[in-house]
Amino acid sequence: MKKLALIIASILTVSIFAGFAPKSTEEPAPKSDNQGVPAWLNQANATPTPAPTEKPTPTPRPTARPAGVTSEPTTDPNATPETENKPTEQPSSTPEATLTPKPDFVRAGTPEAETVKVPILLYHHISDDFNLTNAISIISPRDFNLHMTAIKTQYTPISLREYVDFVNCTDGSKTLPTDPIIVTFDDGYLSNYEVAYPILKKLEIPATIFIVTDTVGEKSGDGKVNYSHFTWEQAKEMQDSGLIDIESHTNDHVKLGQLDIDTVNYELRKSKYQIEKHLGKTCDMIAYPYGSYSDEAIQASKKAGFIAQCLVGDDATDIDYEVNIPRDGVMNMTRITVSGTMGNVNIIELVRKSIANKKID
Ligand SMILES: [Zn+2]
Repeated sequence: MKKLALIIASILTVSIFAGFAPKSTEEPAPKSDNQGVPAWLNQANATPTPAPTEKPTPTPRPTARPAGVTSEPTTDPNATPETENKPTEQPSSTPEATLTPKPDFVRAGTPEAETVKVPILLYHHISDDFNLTNAISIISPRDFNLHMTAIKTQYTPISLREYVDFVNCTDGSKTLPTDPIIVTFDDGYLSNYEVAYPILKKLEIPATIFIVTDTVGEKSGDGKVNYSHFTWEQAKEMQDSGLIDIESHTNDHVKLGQLDIDTVNYELRKSKYQIEKHLGKTCDMIAYPYGSYSDEAIQASKKAGFIAQCLVGDDATDIDYEVNIPRDGVMNMTRITVSGTMGNVNIIELVRKSIANKKID
């Protein structure tokens, strides 16, 4: 009797568990709302909050989260989102969909199109080898990647060319996103090709690289440059991708504002000629080394065929933290110099501040 009761109990137990077991696998794994939140958000905000440990406390988490992030991370660390719907490794699609509503566009020629604030970021060399004295022009690969991921998520990256075309558009055929951002580099370092280019490709972020034509392909240690510069072949590969545009940063990295007009003309025309010859494209944009220019140099640039000019760069000054608006034209564009000392800052905070600083009359 006892035995029979045991057998019945065992059968019951087995069937209870047997009935329960399939249900538990059918139950979709709890979906982590945090899945779409890119790692940079936590890093960029440098919150001291530790990651959830094995024993999550029931205390509510702080609500201070970056704008646009409404979801909370799961409180159950075991609730791994291992479902078939695991997001792909595309870094751009998921964060965009969950964090930022897609922007509207403005059309050229309309009143609102005149005052869209357009930040242009300026990077130089990308390397882990930097210190506080040279960090103004060097950023680590990790931080560069964080920056690009951040801007891709929070803004709409466009090319400098798209912006120039928009400003020059007179028939209303061009549009501009209401939250544009532009990435540029100066000098033409090999790291732009080796480090930045793959990241930009992965995230589909266009960029303009202003190169010093006399140092193309120069290697560090050969006496001419501190850091190696990419070759014409590498420049051509980037240009032909359609993602990168190579433009002029003069031939010898000179201060155009301090040179006689003949030398200015030589610097402008030689660099333009070299780029057009090697890359088979029109070179019509220039960034002035050291931000050095004069009225004469600007006029000479126009005459040489440069339709867009970046007036500041290299040395970061107060005006390097401003943004552009279309009605100011494209012959005096300003850029935000991004420094390696910023670490994983918050490039977004920097851009927001720059945008806020721009007063529109
Ligand atoms: Zn430069």
